[in-house]
Amino acid sequence: MIAGIDIGGTTSKIGLVQDGRVLQQTRIPTTGHADDHAFADALAAAVLGLLKDGGQGDLRAVGIGAPNANQFTGIIEMAPNLPWKHDVPLARMMQDRLGVPAVLGNDANAAALGEWRYGAGQGFDDLLVVTIGTGVGSGFIVNGKLVLGSAGNAGELGHMTMAIDGRSCTCGRKGCLETYVSIRGMRQTYAELADDLAVLKQDGVKCIADAAHQGDTAAIRTFEETVRWLAVGLANAVAVTGPRRVVLFGGIVRSGDLLLAPLKKRFHEALLNIYQGRVDLTVSALPDDDAALLGAAALTTLDIT
Ligand SMILES: [Zn+2]
Repeated sequence: MIAGIDIGGTTSKIGLVQDGRVLQQTRIPTTGHADDHAFADALAAAVLGLLKDGGQGDLRAVGIGAPNANQFTGIIEMAPNLPWKHDVPLARMMQDRLGVPAVLGNDANAAALGEWRYGAGQGFDDLLVVTIGTGVGSGFIVNGKLVLGSAGNAGELGHMTMAIDGRSCTCGRKGCLETYVSIRGMRQTYAELADDLAVLKQDGVKCIADAAHQGDTAAIRTFEETVRWLAVGLANAVAVTGPRRVVLFGGIVRSGDLLLAPLKKRFHEALLNIYQGRVDLTVSALPDDDAALLGAAALTTLDIT
C-alpha cells in the first residue's frame, strides 16, 4: 500500500493506492495551518486515519506531488501558490512522521507518471503528458524514463516562449504558452475579443464553452485561438522529444467538440513531416478525482538515488 498526496493551492488530497487503484481518499485544507510543520502533522494524521479506517496491508511508501517540487532534494521551493514562502523539505518531514520512505515530485511530472503507469500512456515508453488548468504543466517520458533534467524540474512546456514580447506570464517572462492556453489565458483571450464581459462573471472556462455553444462569436473565436496556440506548442514539443503519444489532462480538454476535435486536426497539420502519422493525441483515461493521487503514488516507483 502506498499513500499518494497531492498538494494543491487550497486543498490537499490524500489517498491510499494499491495495484493502480485508489482505495480510499480524503482531503485537508492546504491553508490555515500555523506553519509547515503543523501542515505536515495534519497530512500524516490524514494518512494514519485512512489506514485505520480499513486500509488492509502495510504502508510501504509515500509519494507527494506538489508545485515547485524538486525531485532530487525532496524540497518544495518557494511555490508562489502555496502558503509558505520558504523552502519546505516535505519529503523528509513525512518520512520522519510516518516512518516509511517518502518521495516528492513536481505535480506535472506526477501526472505524467500516473498516465504512464495506470492511464492512457500505458505501454508508451515515449510519452508527453500535458495538464491544462490554471497554468500548463507537462511531463516527458523519453526512452522509458521520466525526464528530470539537471535540477530535477525539467519539462516546463507551459513556459516555452511562443510569442516574443507576448503576454506577461506569472514566471516574469513574456509570451509563454500558458499565457494563451490555460484557464487564465483563455479568459484573457475572451476579454480581448468580446465587447461585453458578462460571461466572465463566472469563474473558469466552462462559462466560455457554454457561451460558444450558444453562438457567442467571441467565445467561439476564443476556442479557435486556443487551439491554434496549443497545436503549435504541442508540435514543437514533439519535435524535441519524439513521443509516440500525447495525453492531455484537465477540465478544458473535456470541451470535446470545441477543443479536442479541432485540436487533433491542427496538431497533425503543425507536426514536422517526419512525425506525421507517428504520434497520436488523446485525453486522459484516469478518473479526475484519482489521477493526481495515482500520479503521486507512482512517484515512489521511480528509481532515484
Ligand atoms: Zn512563463
